[in-house]
Amino acid sequence: MNKFMKSLSLWVLIILGAWLLASGLKDKSATKNISYSTFKDLIKSGKVTKAVVKADVISGEFDDNGVIVRYKATLMNDPNLISELEAYNVPEYRAETNKSWVSNVLWYFGPVVLLAFLWFFMIKQMNSSGKSAMMFGKTKAKPEVDNNVTFNDVAGCDEEKEELKEIIAFLKDPQKFQKVGGKIPKGVLLSGAPGTGKTLLAKAVAGEASVPFFSSSGSEFVEMFVGVGASRVRDLFDKGRKNAPCLLFIDEIDAVGRHRFAGIGGGHDEREQTLNQILVEMDGFNTTEGVILIAATNRPDVLDPALTRPGRFDRQVTVYPPDLKGREEIIKVHTKKIKLEDDLDLSIIARRTPGFVGADLANLCNEAALLAARYDKKRVSMVELEEAIERVIAGPEKKSRIMSEKEKKMIAYHESGHAVVAKILDHSDPVHKVSIVPRGPALGYTLQLPREDKYLTTKKHLLSQLAILLGGRAAEEIFCQEETTGAQNDLSRATSIASKMVCEFGMSESLGKITYRKDDSEIFLGRDISKDRQFSNETLDKIDEEIRRIVDEAFQVAKKVLIDAKSKIEKLVVLLIEKESISGEELDSIIQTSQENK
Ligand code: ADP
Ligand code: ZN
Repeated sequence: MNKFMKSLSLWVLIILGAWLLASGLKDKSATKNISYSTFKDLIKSGKVTKAVVKADVISGEFDDNGVIVRYKATLMNDPNLISELEAYNVPEYRAETNKSWVSNVLWYFGPVVLLAFLWFFMIKQMNSSGKSAMMFGKTKAKPEVDNNVTFNDVAGCDEEKEELKEIIAFLKDPQKFQKVGGKIPKGVLLSGAPGTGKTLLAKAVAGEASVPFFSSSGSEFVEMFVGVGASRVRDLFDKGRKNAPCLLFIDEIDAVGRHRFAGIGGGHDEREQTLNQILVEMDGFNTTEGVILIAATNRPDVLDPALTRPGRFDRQVTVYPPDLKGREEIIKVHTKKIKLEDDLDLSIIARRTPGFVGADLANLCNEAALLAARYDKKRVSMVELEEAIERVIAGPEKKSRIMSEKEKKMIAYHESGHAVVAKILDHSDPVHKVSIVPRGPALGYTLQLPREDKYLTTKKHLLSQLAILLGGRAAEEIFCQEETTGAQNDLSRATSIASKMVCEFGMSESLGKITYRKDDSEIFLGRDISKDRQFSNETLDKIDEEIRRIVDEAFQVAKKVLIDAKSKIEKLVVLLIEKESISGEELDSIIQTSQENK
């Protein structure tokens, strides 16, 4: 049961309890129950001072040697009562209807008041979670009326835009698209860090295609009553069908789309029902209808695999944080409406904001404008922009994301190490891109793309691969005289390759062409296969030794390459720090010009 129901039932109990208590306490306190005969005796002894006669009880007070005692007795059919009360001079006596008006009101209207109270309480609860009482199973999603966001408002993100163009073409004219025979995904999953512009991109897709944009959020589907979330999902898709062609957007899909059985609750909780409903709806509608679902998440790793199966969110677009050029473009977009001093060089601001995402930069521009207003300036100048950077960095959760100059330099050396080794060694794949913009857990990356599809890998290729992986650490050692934790992933990948060479591919001379492994489980070192007991300790030691030798040799190769290419590395690092990401061609030109200079 959820929180609301619990607190509701608690309230009901409290109110009922209080009500019963109040009606019970009213005349029970210190009242003496006496028999009718005792009552008669009391009258006869002249002690009774008050008598109130009701339909079946008589109550009142008597004087017990100076102490006033309240009494109560069950009435008998006694025609002489009044005459006796008269005869013994009871000072006050009267008759009353069975219940006082207070208890009457309570009896007749109590339940009504209680119900009204409950009703009021429920409505209040619902409103506080943003819904009116009757809109229970409905989604809040309304079509964005004047959505005039277009791709022009989304700076950078060129690759992401490219991937979404097909969706736009489809939404513009679903029938035509169908005739050409294009197969369109039902759902697109945008994943990326918060503030990288996922919502903005989705909105721009709708804007570009001039179709309605229905925006909702995963958290809206996780509600207090089981079944409400599912019914809201149904409602969202109904709205979509009625307004087709259109775009449905679900932000934070991970709120409902978490891997089932992974979270708290397990079993049949509300979230699971909602998720199932989303799956059912996605399977149910067919793309000819012209409805596209875009969902956003910053945790694609926790999503239930059912969501990413074909026919559901089968297109995934990762939205990356902007690099230097991207940041400058975003700043330009957000300073369009701000009056800037003439000749302001926005690239300086872009350079000073590594690690900022779109939302941070939008925030920065806004802060700068506010500061200018505070300083009574007509135009925003560098001073306000720089101060705004400080303010945004000082914001609560930003600090950890922003890279220091020193870190940036170390990462640049590390990535240059990978790139230059890859470039210079034979038998390696061409480098497509080198970047020091963080992507997920990696602080930088060197992207290699194979020249052609390969089904077989040669030993030489594996050895170059090892040297390239170790090139990062080698560069740290040579140029920074320091070792960082950033190489951890490289090292584990290198170890894995080397152990496969020894244990699976029979590529070690001393151990021969033998497979030292039985199942598919990942092994890193010889010790891991010792469970098999198939090999002697001696063999296992040899395996470890051989793996270590291969890794060490590859490291030496990388080191030698880097020492020989020192000047190229330095050039590359300067360029990387300046531009943050450089293409394969730019890398080529650096390596070539340096070679000519030699
Ligand atoms: P997300 O959905 O990824 O958390 P949003 O789309 O909500 O991020 O982005 C928040 C704000 O940041 C946007 O409204 C926009 O002002 C700004 N922003 C983010 N990315 C960009 C971008 N590429 N170009 C321009 N503005 C951006
Ligand atoms: Zn690395």
